[in-house]
Amino acid sequence: MARRVTKPVYVGGVKVGGDAPITVQSMTKTDTRDIAATVAQIHELEAAGCEIIRLAVPDMEAALALGAIKKQISIPLISDIHFHHQLALEALNQGVDCLRLNPGNIRDAEKVRDIAREAKVRQVPIRIGVNFGSLPPVGAIGKTRGQHRHADGVNKLTKGAGASGEGEAVSAVDHMVATALWEIGVLEDLDFDLIKISLKAYDIDTTVEAYRKLSTLVPYPFHLGITEAGTARNGSIRSAIGLGILLYEGIGDTIRVSLSDESKEEVEVGYEILKSLGLRKKGVQMVACPSCGRADVDIRKLANDVDELLKGRETPVKVAVMGCEVNGPGEAKDADVGIAAGNGRAVIFRKGVKARVVDEADMLAALLEEVEAVSVELAAALPAVG
Ligand code: SF4
Repeated sequence: MARRVTKPVYVGGVKVGGDAPITVQSMTKTDTRDIAATVAQIHELEAAGCEIIRLAVPDMEAALALGAIKKQISIPLISDIHFHHQLALEALNQGVDCLRLNPGNIRDAEKVRDIAREAKVRQVPIRIGVNFGSLPPVGAIGKTRGQHRHADGVNKLTKGAGASGEGEAVSAVDHMVATALWEIGVLEDLDFDLIKISLKAYDIDTTVEAYRKLSTLVPYPFHLGITEAGTARNGSIRSAIGLGILLYEGIGDTIRVSLSDESKEEVEVGYEILKSLGLRKKGVQMVACPSCGRADVDIRKLANDVDELLKGRETPVKVAVMGCEVNGPGEAKDADVGIAAGNGRAVIFRKGVKARVVDEADMLAALLEEVEAVSVELAAALPAVG
């Protein structure tokens, strides 16, 4: 699918936008001030394939911990800043690779300019992170005084562009886009263009429309996410639908799946979304039949065992685990390695060719051997994993 053409930025050594592969990021869930725990979690995420990590910076102690954390990790570090521009300045001083600023709660243009001047000297990109839950007051984007959260009008935002009957209605999409455009304008006035943008809401249609709208107005790369998506199952489905719509339209340069679960799960779901759309080819792509009354082997166990044992692989390999002769041979033949089980035996295919027939007791071990052999061949043929 054709991707939106964006002006790339570098987050540390990772290119975001342009022709770069869509990257998967996550956020730590530790207290950033606890350096050892935060580094341990980042190492776990690195092992899971996380390509960029973001850390909350709630206070100066957390900001001052960033340098020590960065020295102990190998993926780029983004500091997540709200309310206090001094935290952004200290994060830059600590050597972070990117800043996330929230234009909903750092609304003083002069403070944004202070950050941007320093970021420009260091060539550190800024993500303008608009979030529906922390939008600036309606009618007061970029204004620091005059309106407070109790009368900010955000709860009156309409979903569409309809009129409320009481003066002019403002849609959530327009307000989110206008909020991003305000900060883009502040940065561009300083000739600062190392910009990434996110426009996250819990609502899929609001999120999708906001990204779509801004995609026609600016050339900067987008960080995609559905905010506060939910628990592992609900959040993965919401994220897959929301991000899937945008990615299928070619919109999106880096993603974060937000889950009320372990960050590692966010990374794994992120890759599954990209792999499902053919946008990344990293690790195992599983094709598994759901099983039914025809299956006479425990397909669920076999598929889950294979999935678990092959987790964390880098080389892209398509593995099919099928329960009987109906779709089994067809799907299994189409995969790099496939298994079609039945009648106490299993046929293993390699690249569409029947490789061997094994007893049910040996099928897991035999399948893994074949995956190993094919992975070695594929890795030799692929100089870089996309
Ligand atoms: Fe059922 Fe066979 Fe289809 Fe699996 S491949 S779902 S066992 S018919």
